[in-house]
Amino acid sequence: MKVVHTLTELRAARTELPEPLGLVPTMGFLHQGHLSLVQAARKECASVAVSIFVNPTQFAPTEDLASYPRDLEQDLRLLEEAGVDLVWAPTDGDMYPEGFQTWVSVEEVTQQLEGARRPGHFRGVTTVVAKLFNGVQPQKAFFGQKDAQQAVVIQQMVRDLNFPIDITVCPIIREADGLALSSRNTYLSPAERKAATILNRALKAAEKAYLDGERSAEKIRKVMYDKFQTEPLANVQYASCADPKTLQELEQITHGALLSVAVYIGKTRLIDNIVLLEMP
Ligand code: AMP
Repeated sequence: MKVVHTLTELRAARTELPEPLGLVPTMGFLHQGHLSLVQAARKECASVAVSIFVNPTQFAPTEDLASYPRDLEQDLRLLEEAGVDLVWAPTDGDMYPEGFQTWVSVEEVTQQLEGARRPGHFRGVTTVVAKLFNGVQPQKAFFGQKDAQQAVVIQQMVRDLNFPIDITVCPIIREADGLALSSRNTYLSPAERKAATILNRALKAAEKAYLDGERSAEKIRKVMYDKFQTEPLANVQYASCADPKTLQELEQITHGALLSVAVYIGKTRLIDNIVLLEMP
């Protein structure tokens, strides 16, 4: 496994890699969720590259950029074991050189959900992902359904800007008790860790209502809000039932609707989602 930092090193290493090349963009502090993307990439690609970069421009000044967990040594061990060919851990200076002033901004699908609560977040995400794509020039790239809106936004960017890259969205990896794996779970105290299962429990309660025949999106949203009321450590920011493509809130639920939630557990902001599919 080759580890590079600068763009010059990356370009030299890139020419050695067999194609198709798959890219897994990450912010590091890797867990099984990230590694599932690596596994998917290995299945579909002749070589696999992983980027590790905590992108400052997708964090608002009030957010957790400074405290975001980092452990490059451990990440490299995990990626080596997972059979990755190339790791790119760019420098801030290569990603945002002095005088930087060019941004990639996707419009409609960034207005709701995370975009509405985290101003500027997706502009940071699309800009850095465009730069990662330009640097690595993969044929395929792998993202997690965990960040459902991000996956929609990236697919929109790829279409709109004609990136010759095939995007795969991989399922959410969860702990045994349903908590979606996240680097941010490390912030949780033991009591908060227990309380954090409320995200998946609220989504599951809403899914059950749907499977029992409920089709009013308002009522489904209420099922989730009511569930969050039962957890004193949870402070819900939104519980949404939206069209999976436009991300607009629905009135009537249709097959494939996206249920998503953002919740503060203490000071830690967690997100999760589930797609409503009827049982066969
Ligand atoms: P991050 O390091 O949080 O930016 O995540 C990097 C990639 O891993 C993104 O595409 C995430 O959606 C994906 N990811 C994070 N957590 C999970 C998870 N629990 N299951 C599947 N994919 C995940």
